[in-house]
Amino acid sequence: MSPDYEAVIGLEVHARMHTRTKAFCPCAVRFGDPPNTLVCPTCLGLPGALPSLNREAVAMGVRVGLALGCTVRRRSRFARKNYFYPDLPKGYQISQYDEPLCEGGWLDVPQPDGSTRRIGIERAHLEEDAGKNLHGAGASREASLVDLNRAGVPLLEIVGRPELRSASEAAEYLRQLRSVLMAVGANDGNLESGSFRCDANVSVRPVGERRLGTRTEIKNINSFRFVQRAIEWEVAEQVAALKAGGAVAQVTKTWDDDSGRCHVLRRKEGSDDYRYFPEPDLPPLVLSEAFVDELAASLPPLPAARRARYVRELRVTEGDARVITEHPALARWFEALAALTTDAKRAANWVCNVVKPGVVTDGLQASFPLPVEALAALLARLDDGTLSGTLAREVYAKMVESGRSAEAIIEAEGLRVVTDEGAIEAACRAVIDASPKQVAAYRAGKRALLGYFKGEVMRASGGRADPRALDAALSRLLGG
Ligand code: ADP
Ligand code: MG
Ligand code: ZN
Repeated sequence: MSPDYEAVIGLEVHARMHTRTKAFCPCAVRFGDPPNTLVCPTCLGLPGALPSLNREAVAMGVRVGLALGCTVRRRSRFARKNYFYPDLPKGYQISQYDEPLCEGGWLDVPQPDGSTRRIGIERAHLEEDAGKNLHGAGASREASLVDLNRAGVPLLEIVGRPELRSASEAAEYLRQLRSVLMAVGANDGNLESGSFRCDANVSVRPVGERRLGTRTEIKNINSFRFVQRAIEWEVAEQVAALKAGGAVAQVTKTWDDDSGRCHVLRRKEGSDDYRYFPEPDLPPLVLSEAFVDELAASLPPLPAARRARYVRELRVTEGDARVITEHPALARWFEALAALTTDAKRAANWVCNVVKPGVVTDGLQASFPLPVEALAALLARLDDGTLSGTLAREVYAKMVESGRSAEAIIEAEGLRVVTDEGAIEAACRAVIDASPKQVAAYRAGKRALLGYFKGEVMRASGGRADPRALDAALSRLLGG
């Protein structure tokens, strides 16, 4: 980016609350069912049908608010946001406006240097999702059809303050926020199914300027990668416009990943356009002290706290701690493993690099390629020197494939480190005899060639030579 301008980004996230039923009716929340089968008079918007608020959705919204350090209002209120669109049969969306459920809060966003930067949260309010328009679907290429299975699904809109400074920081904010929502069980984290979508508000200003520039809003992005690309593109576009003496128009845009650019949808609507007014069919939402206190007391450990503990107490690397805390099931699995092993740092490394690629997640659930105890037993054989890192990986692959224990595989296949000095020395001699040129160069002073000899002997031994015995034999034979 141009050094004379800085980007200012504020994100609005729409997170689906992980409830069994919809926000204001008893219809099930599910995806993939035949269109318009999860509907009733209320979510179809039939005249006279009345909403009744889902307690579970409120509890989840409160948990998120508490996790983000927000003030949870004891009294909040629903409002009608009026607009016309075919996926909104009532002609309005039930949302919250001037009295939202949660206000003020923050999220600590990890930075590349390992520090964190605190980004303010303005508010978080409950609302309902709209249906889905399907263009050119069904019988006719020209027709658009509407599926209302999603209509009325509870959402929490989390409005961040305009304090993010780059596209990559914005993407990291989203990753963090998603992990917090998943940790408290309020969201399944499934971006592809639209459980977690974001609108990015983007402006730029000359460095040193305090006032905010005119912003554009990029709607409905459901991929971390797309968010980053869309913001990068938009920032460059705005800087170019200002440098050319032009201005930024306050418009709503959409990101098109195929062409790699944003397209203007419409001029930005203001809140007046929506003719907000209090929802007459729902009384104010009043929460008891006890209800909120109980939710606060049962809040599980949050990703930031887990991360800090892994790094401080367990000596896990910052990078591994981040990866592990992205999914609560992965974090719990790692903690169970760490409790069974002597070296938590190494356990974390195994979880991130070896286990995780084989983990299958389904929302908040995850299934692992093997039980925690089985991996702990394997790592114990690494501890006692039976296995080298390479061998342990080999045993791991066989464990996952066959379901057998580390012990059984080591016994049956003789996969253990060779410590027999005679055998190792013979292997070294064979390599040395076959490499006269390298030996001459090594003896002439090219000491870096030691790595070559080690590698060759290791390879010949199928990764089984004990590294310490190997070092000793090589320096004896080559002359140190
Ligand atoms: P709206 O309902 O019009 O989207 P808000 O005023 O509540 O409006 O702002 C929503 C989001 O826009 C917030 O996330 C906020 O951080 C962000 N935002 C507001 N002004 C700017 C700006 N000048 N540059 C970047 N983001 C902004
Ligand atoms: Mg907005
Ligand atoms: Zn319904």
